[in-house]
Parts: sequence; structure tokens; C-alpha cells
Amino acid sequence: SRDATSAMLERIEQDNVRFLRLQFTDLLGMPKNVAIPIKQAEKALTGGIGFDGSSIEGFVRIEESDMILKPDLSTYTLLPWQPEDYAEARFICDVYKASGRPFEGDPRYVLRRAMEDAAKDGFVFNTGPELEFFLFKMIDGRPTTRFQDVGGYFDLAPTDLAEDVRREIILALTEMGFEIEASHHEVAESQHEIDFKYSDALHTADNVITFKFAAKTIALMRGLHASFMAKPIHGICGSGMHTNCSLAKDGVNAFFDPDAPIQISETCLHFIGGLLKHARAITRLANPTINSYKRLVPGYEAPCYVSWSASNRSALVRVPAPRGNSTRVEFRSPDPTCNPYLAFAAMLAAGMDGVRNKIEPPNGVDKNIYQMTSAERGYAGIDTLPCDLYEAHQALLADDLICEALGPHVLEALTSVTNAEWDAYRTAVHPWELDRYLATY
Ligand code: GLN
Ligand code: MG
Ligand code: MG
Ligand code: MG
Repeated sequence: SRDATSAMLERIEQDNVRFLRLQFTDLLGMPKNVAIPIKQAEKALTGGIGFDGSSIEGFVRIEESDMILKPDLSTYTLLPWQPEDYAEARFICDVYKASGRPFEGDPRYVLRRAMEDAAKDGFVFNTGPELEFFLFKMIDGRPTTRFQDVGGYFDLAPTDLAEDVRREIILALTEMGFEIEASHHEVAESQHEIDFKYSDALHTADNVITFKFAAKTIALMRGLHASFMAKPIHGICGSGMHTNCSLAKDGVNAFFDPDAPIQISETCLHFIGGLLKHARAITRLANPTINSYKRLVPGYEAPCYVSWSASNRSALVRVPAPRGNSTRVEFRSPDPTCNPYLAFAAMLAAGMDGVRNKIEPPNGVDKNIYQMTSAERGYAGIDTLPCDLYEAHQALLADDLICEALGPHVLEALTSVTNAEWDAYRTAVHPWELDRYLATY
């Protein structure tokens, strides 16, 4: 509205903002932005700002490349690492076509559409991610895999650089409006986790992008590289982005039922049923890089099998202990390389399929699945997650419901990205092959 726009313009002036960054996300989940001087603010907030979409990964063909960025006013934030007398602010934008219609290739639009669909049944999808990452040393201006510290799970390191950097990241995020709930050293050397408060999935996806961008910026200012790669080092834990999910109806958590056996509602059980039914297809969105699949192996608290449990950390879906308004399911496969808009849209579409069609999940598995034989798993009806990106993409193409949630534009673009990436990978000769074969043959 006109009022909201003029209030925002006033705020921008009060904050002494010199530059505005209009941000959006490409298909791979990479943040992109156009910086505009403050003189353009009014134009940007009223009509949007045009840009050429043809060079953005997964966007458009040359002949239809005129796109418009429209700032979402609720995403305004100052960039706290900029000096105060040279303030910069950013907006996250929705992408429109020259015709004025929303652009189907905008990941934010894909998630909006999935959320509008759930809203038809009165549901709001809430998500809360747990982002893990490594802080590595930069040497000669390049990221390495050299550890910054040698701490372990929940270690209280002496005041080392990593702890300072983690604190600075948290301070910056707090200034940007995040409510940080917890942070700790993770299992591996130099590995950290920072958890922030859940929100509706759209704002959480925005937050995931902002989180990674802020963490990288702050780390770099201290000469470190914040890496969100899923499995940077063989033989130690990878980094996950466990996603806590719940549905709310009329402001009340719809997953809680005080009278049910483990106090989770039918809606929650069916949501789990849907997640498991579509788990193999969701993997393509939750784990989009070649490297993602090096994390999904036994022994590192990352899931490899399609199962759920009330407690067991080898399961794909776990139901954490809290109940009441905090009742939720933890979906454990996503890693921080995912495009959170697409991953959340796929998860929601799957869960809603479960809720609408009353899909009963199989029995929960409370054993350590890593230690079961394949015969035992077969007997218990436990399927496996895709082993690599190619298999995951085939699983996606075979799943009409998830394909439909993405829409033909995104599906086609993802297919060409996957084909190119897979060809580059499968034709490369990796160091492992030389170690294994060069001396022998
Ligand atoms: N790093 C593990 C993963 O890859 C998770 C460890 C944990 O938080 N329990 O998912
Ligand atoms: Mg955690
Ligand atoms: Mg963790
Ligand atoms: Mg967790």
C-alpha cells in the first residue's frame, strides 16, 4: 500500500541508508543482488527494478529476459557489517515477468505457491532449521580445509578465534532481527551449529539465505572461510541442515494431541507418512550437489534409509521430545547446500499429500538402522535414499506430485543443471582412482 511504502521510505532515510541491495535467489540457492543508490528507492518500492534475467542460473532464455524485482517490505534489514555513516540495507524480492505476472522460475514463488495450497486447508507450514558448517582457514586468499580449532561436540573451547567468530556471527544475525536459540561446537573439528527460531517456511527460507551470507561475510573479515559444503572431509561428519517441521491451524500447533499414544496427532502421523512416501524425490531438492551424497552414508548421524522414529538418530524423520506448541518432526536429510525454498516446498507438498490422503507411515524403527543387515531392512520394509545425484534426479522425475509442486519451468531447468553436473563428474578422473589403480595397472 501507499502508506506502507512511504513509512518504509521514511525509515530508510532515518537509517541514513546510502545503498539498497535488492536480493533474490537463483535456482541453485545462490543469493544474487542488484545494488541501487538511495535516489532509486522510491522507484524500487513502487514499481520495482528491472534486470536482465538471462544470465541467472535456471532463469530464462535470452528472448524473454526482462525481469522485475519487487522488494518484500517485511524483509528490510540493515547490513550490520557496513559502517554506520555508510549504511546499506537489503530487501528480499519477488521476481516478476515484464507482463506483470510472477515468474515461475523464482524459487520464492514456488514456495509461496506450495504454502497457498496448504492454506486452502487452513494450514501454515512452520520450519526451523539447524545449520551446521565448518570454519576453515584461508591461506593466500583461498579457502582450504585446514581446521581452525580441534574442539568437539559441545566443547567449551578456550577463547579461541572460532569461538569469537561464532559469537560475532550471532551478534550480526541478532542485529538483523534473528532470534538465536542455541549455538554449539559440533562433533567434528572446526564444525559449528547455530539454531534460530522457527517461522513460517517462507521467512525461514529467507533466513537460511541471510544466515549463510552473514556467516560467510563475518568469517571472511576474520580471515576464515565458513563452508556449508555437505561433506568437505572424508571420514569425519558432514554438515546437515536438519529441518524441524510443523503445521499450525488457527495459530495452534496441529501436530500435538495430548490424548494420542505418543501425543502426536493424526495430522502429524500422516504428514510423516507423506514425507516418507516422497522422501526419495525430496532428496533431489534437499541434497542438490554431487558432494551431498558423500554425507548420506552410514556412521555419521546422517540418514541413509527411509524410516522414522520417536528417538533414533539414524532415522530420516525423528520426533523430538518436546510436546505442546513445540511438537514437531525433524527431517534430517537436508544439507546446507540446498535451495531452502525448493526443499521446503517439496517437503510441504509431500506432507500435505500425507495429510489429505491419510497416508499411514510404516511402523517406527527404534533400532539403530546402520547396524541392521539388508535382509533385516528388507523385512522391515525400509527403503534406501538415493546414492547419488543422478539417482535422486530420476526419483524426482518419477514422482508426479513433487514435479507438480515445482512446476515445469523449474523441473526443466533442474534437469539441465543435473545433466551438465553429472556429466562433468562422471567423466572426471578423481584422485581416488589414481590412488587405487595407477600403480596396479
Ligand atoms: N552432522 C550430522 C549430519 O550430517 C548431524 C549431527 C547432529 O546434529 N546430531 O546430519
Ligand atoms: Mg541440533
Ligand atoms: Mg547438529
Ligand atoms: Mg538435529
